[in-house]
Amino acid sequence: MKQLIIFGPPGVGKGTQAELIAKKLNIAHFSTGQILRDAVANGTDLGKKAKEIMDSGALVPDEIMIGIVKDALSSPDIKNGFLLDGFPRTLKQAEALETIFKELQFNNVVVISLTANDDEIVKRLMLRGRSDDTEETIKHRLKVYLEQTSPILAHYDGNYTIIEVNGVGDIEEINEKILKFLI
Ligand code: AMP
Repeated sequence: MKQLIIFGPPGVGKGTQAELIAKKLNIAHFSTGQILRDAVANGTDLGKKAKEIMDSGALVPDEIMIGIVKDALSSPDIKNGFLLDGFPRTLKQAEALETIFKELQFNNVVVISLTANDDEIVKRLMLRGRSDDTEETIKHRLKVYLEQTSPILAHYDGNYTIIEVNGVGDIEEINEKILKFLI
């Protein structure tokens, strides 16, 4: 059973690669950003709470996100495995996830770490044009990533297998590189 996390700065191509990997391996793809966007579109309580936070580029509170992921990992959809995309984003989330993995006895977690330099990331986010991709929000999301999310990588070191792949280049080629490690 594949137990995967995709990690990297906003705009590095996590979502695109995650979709391709999940399809190829026939595993569940949990994008916390997409789950939140769906909640906003459906006007649920979660969506109402998340919308303003997402529009500002800040993070939705840890307790809410941890609950969402706990539910996802308890669903029967993950019988072949799962790929977490956009979670964890803080050390607190990473620690909670470690506990969840222990409880569920998921002992073979692999982290796919996608890398890109800052200039490339800003360029990509400006081109993507999602509603939370304004210049101001992009700057804030990068700041949040550097301050709150990037330290998680050190936490993974020693706990999980990490595979590092450059996220800049041809989508198919990057995907092949990742899959070579996983299959
Ligand atoms: P993403 O699609 O991963 O770029 O996420 C879009 C937005 O959803 C982020 O800028 C956050 O506001 C929110 N979000 C997604 N995942 C998380 C998470 N794990 N923790 C907190 N906020 C999140």
